Amino acid sequence: MSGDMSNNPDTKSASYPQDSSGRDHTASAPPESPASTASADKAIEACWGRVNLRMRKDIGDAAWRHWIKPLRVSRLEDGTLTLEAESTLARERVSSQYADRLRVISAAEFNDVSPSIRHVEVRLASNRQQPHRLSEQKQAPAAAHSAITGMPAEGRDDLMAGLDPRYTFANFVVGKPNELAFAVARRTAESEKVAFNPLFLYGGVGLGKTHLMHAIAWHIRQQSPSRKVLYLSAEKFMYRFVRALRFRDTMSFKEQFRSVDVLMIDDVQFISGKDSTQEEFFHTFNALVEDGRQVIISADKSPTDLEGMEERLRSRLGWGMVADIHPADYELRLGILQSKAEQAPVQIADKVLEFMAHRIVSNVRELEGALNRILAHAMLVGREITIESAAELLADLLRASSRQASVDAIQKRVAAHYDVRVSEMFSARRSRDVARPRQVAMYLAKNLTSLSYPDIGRQFGGRDHTTVMHAVKTIESLSKSDGQLAEDVQLLKSILAG
Ligand code: ADP
Ligand code: MG
Repeated sequence: MSGDMSNNPDTKSASYPQDSSGRDHTASAPPESPASTASADKAIEACWGRVNLRMRKDIGDAAWRHWIKPLRVSRLEDGTLTLEAESTLARERVSSQYADRLRVISAAEFNDVSPSIRHVEVRLASNRQQPHRLSEQKQAPAAAHSAITGMPAEGRDDLMAGLDPRYTFANFVVGKPNELAFAVARRTAESEKVAFNPLFLYGGVGLGKTHLMHAIAWHIRQQSPSRKVLYLSAEKFMYRFVRALRFRDTMSFKEQFRSVDVLMIDDVQFISGKDSTQEEFFHTFNALVEDGRQVIISADKSPTDLEGMEERLRSRLGWGMVADIHPADYELRLGILQSKAEQAPVQIADKVLEFMAHRIVSNVRELEGALNRILAHAMLVGREITIESAAELLADLLRASSRQASVDAIQKRVAAHYDVRVSEMFSARRSRDVARPRQVAMYLAKNLTSLSYPDIGRQFGGRDHTTVMHAVKTIESLSKSDGQLAEDVQLLKSILAG
């Protein structure tokens, strides 16, 4: 693989962050190590596996087994995916009948390793005894391996293996919900001295935490290559710790971590509940911070809300800078769609992007998925995508959100139930007789829609997201002691959800 892929800068991302090899990303493997080639192969195999799944669904089991399953990926270069067929007949058949479909599906599914597949070529297997060329090429010479990472030999290390080259500051779209997190991430990356310690980034799934962490790592790599940066998921941290315990090698485990300049641990919530790892993490953490090294943490909750984590660790985590990423609002969703659409080879009309930004509200990852689907379709049919065709293509995603009650309906129903005017839902009045129904409505909005706290706040007269969070907590705890309220909420829920 490496020989064939040596000229393609895209393949830098072939070692993608989800790799589960358990390696950390400091320079420990010798440069000749085929490790990153192997994980590139693994990434490609994973993508090809997904292409197969979708093809199988699309063209049916029999045709898939006959024509697609025997194909092998032989190279991925300059936007061309080359496949090998086992016979001339198979090559002809696949080229004439399935190449288009393969191209579109591969463009979407190979996104992890090469964001721009534009052609699919099918050729006859060069060596039919050895159709699986990927593993054969794992023994690639060091020079080719160096080219794969696209780095000069001395700058290349295992760090590259964990980082997605698309996750940079330049590719991060900034809006109100993420501007604080972006600003502190940038500052941390830019300052030679330790800026905030620790930097703690938190937010819901798919909102850009990993993206920002990789961006920090890339920036530091570029600005001060001598600083040793270690990025790893909390799961990997635990895996390595447990392995060190098993091999009675905790000393070198400690040293490895404590010798880095910047330590980043992603999704730290996964450390919670595991006492000995928490303990070790705590000590490593303290040692680094006391020594003036930068520590950067991400989690899905704020330090104080991390369940199953020791009190002293939770409070320690909150000592530096804590920045949260809120769910993307409409403007940010549209901005992200526009920026990603700009980089695509086909054009998508603004009104289609606006439609998507309105209707897909869950998270950025889902938004990206929806856009990829639209792009794939646009490339396949070569016809302009309209709102109608977008609605059809995204039907499953849209159905999921339209089955939900609207905030409007919730407000009307709750107002009627408590006999207050609907306008009280937006008013600033705080007297109990209107405040409580308003809180019930906010609680229901949180439970029956996928809207974020800030989104809900906006629909209740522009209230702050903390007000909504408070309302939800209040109703939750009151329902436990107040039977009447619990009954009201239950009833309203069943009416509105049905
Ligand atoms: P998290 O780690 O918070 O679950 P990720 O960082 O994996 O989320 O983000 C999910 C996807 O959404 C990634 O592909 C990322 O590039 C993209 N993404 C999230 N926020 C933004 C943003 N503000 N601008 C551009 N892309 C974004
Ligand atoms: Mg993440």
